Amino acid sequence: MQEPLSGPGRFFRGNLHTHSTLSDAIRSPEDVCALYRDGGYDFISLTDHFLPKYGFPIADTRDFRTNRFTTILGAEVHAPSTELGEMWHILSVGLPLDFEPTTAAETGPELAARCVAAGAFVALPHPAWNGMTVGDADAIPCAHAVELYNHTSHVEEDRGDGTVMLDTLLSRGRRIWGCATDDAHFKRNDWFGGWVMVKSETLEPEALVEALKAGRFYSSQGPEIHALQVSSTEVIVECSPASSIIALGRGSAGAFSTGPGQRTARLPLDKFRKGGWLRVVVVDEAGRRAWSNPVWLDD
Ligand SMILES: [Zn+2]
Ligand SMILES: [Zn+2]
Repeated sequence: MQEPLSGPGRFFRGNLHTHSTLSDAIRSPEDVCALYRDGGYDFISLTDHFLPKYGFPIADTRDFRTNRFTTILGAEVHAPSTELGEMWHILSVGLPLDFEPTTAAETGPELAARCVAAGAFVALPHPAWNGMTVGDADAIPCAHAVELYNHTSHVEEDRGDGTVMLDTLLSRGRRIWGCATDDAHFKRNDWFGGWVMVKSETLEPEALVEALKAGRFYSSQGPEIHALQVSSTEVIVECSPASSIIALGRGSAGAFSTGPGQRTARLPLDKFRKGGWLRVVVVDEAGRRAWSNPVWLDD
């Protein structure tokens, strides 16, 4: 029996990807922290664009921590260039304040490796928004996650969904997590749309980063996943009231339970054995989703 969300501690709600006036957003770091703190979040990572035109900012948000709200220092770092010739975007949560600026010669994969070496949880952001290819994702094998939902990309350009990239990588044998983020810039109503629920014993930034790297989290737009069990024959989900509870795997492998107000579902495992992995999606009456991380059946 695998129970990936059953470890010690409680769930902490966090936004891993946000911007401020230190780069191209319109709220100050203090305002951004206050907005999320007052909005029911336990933590955020303010991840401004780590570019020379902004002076390579690593937002120092330590003064905005309270005894029930913390911040993880981080940045969205950049380098030339992806397979489509776009600038790399690499989300790095858990960087030191003195993280060395990039140079013109540093590639995206080299920069991602440097972030991981510095202790960061590294995610490949908004794959649909800037046309990330499988080759791009393969070029950064050290990435811990891909954004399965980016709220700003959804609000602004209807390209927020990263689940196709996540499933493609999983089906190719990659062991990688999926996270939902806001990527808020506050120029439109682009906050409080996608977050992670991290299981941790403490609200210390270091503990949260370790839990993220270990995949002890799920992602959400609203619904809650209370428990997830995978036995040798079925997957059992306990959640907030849902209209659909779905398990997805390699290719077209899927199983689902539909009906109003469901708080639990037991789905058969047989379709997922060949691919070797599954992940769970919970959809509520309003169409909002929660996404578990993938579970590998041979673990
Ligand atoms: Zn970006
Ligand atoms: Zn961003």
